[in-house]
Amino acid sequence: MKLPIRFIGAGGAHEVHWGNSSALIEWQGSNFLIDCGFTVYPRLLQANLVDKIDAVCITHLHDDHIGSLSVLLYHRHFISRLPPLPVIVGTSELYAKLYTYLHFLMGEVELFAEVKLAEDYKPFLQALSTARLHAPHMPSCAYLFLSDEANVLYSGDIAEPLPILRDREWVAQHQPLFVFHDVSFQRSASHCYYEDLYPFLERASIWGYHCDPAQAPANNQIPLVHHTFMLA
Ligand SMILES: [Zn+2]
Repeated sequence: MKLPIRFIGAGGAHEVHWGNSSALIEWQGSNFLIDCGFTVYPRLLQANLVDKIDAVCITHLHDDHIGSLSVLLYHRHFISRLPPLPVIVGTSELYAKLYTYLHFLMGEVELFAEVKLAEDYKPFLQALSTARLHAPHMPSCAYLFLSDEANVLYSGDIAEPLPILRDREWVAQHQPLFVFHDVSFQRSASHCYYEDLYPFLERASIWGYHCDPAQAPANNQIPLVHHTFMLA
């Protein structure tokens, strides 16, 4: 099957020539935007997609994941005059922090956004908490999009392979499983070293993002999204 996912950007915070990592996934008739970093709104605007998003999923609160969220929300409210946009988070801890952040920036959050927990989107969307696996102070989460045909797992930023991938039974029950995973070509305390994903390549179809392909060693075995899944 052709996966209904297109990346708005696939770089990290400092690889802005690839854009901040963010993806649009069409699932159950709705367009979900995953993350909205500081390079994302300009790209959405250019591609005429600002009004076509039905909900935004937020993985965590670094600026390369939320840095243009308020601008997107302002655009939809003041220019497009659309109702508040659902903004989905995975855990109550992330909910509280995102709400506080939006309140600080925008005041009356409810005018612009409907902050919701992913459990409202059961059974076709689930969030998996990865709290403190990316940054020690920070709630974060991965998102799993489920259907009878395929399941798509989006890791968000994380310093190690998603823990759920170690559960062979779970992985077997969720086939076919397509995984979009944070990768780094240097060992780091906050991103997943590419070779650490090798044991999982047999269990699921995995593509890496949040990196610069020019930094990939010649022997890298993790396919990258950069030439396959980018928004045209
Ligand atoms: Zn981050």
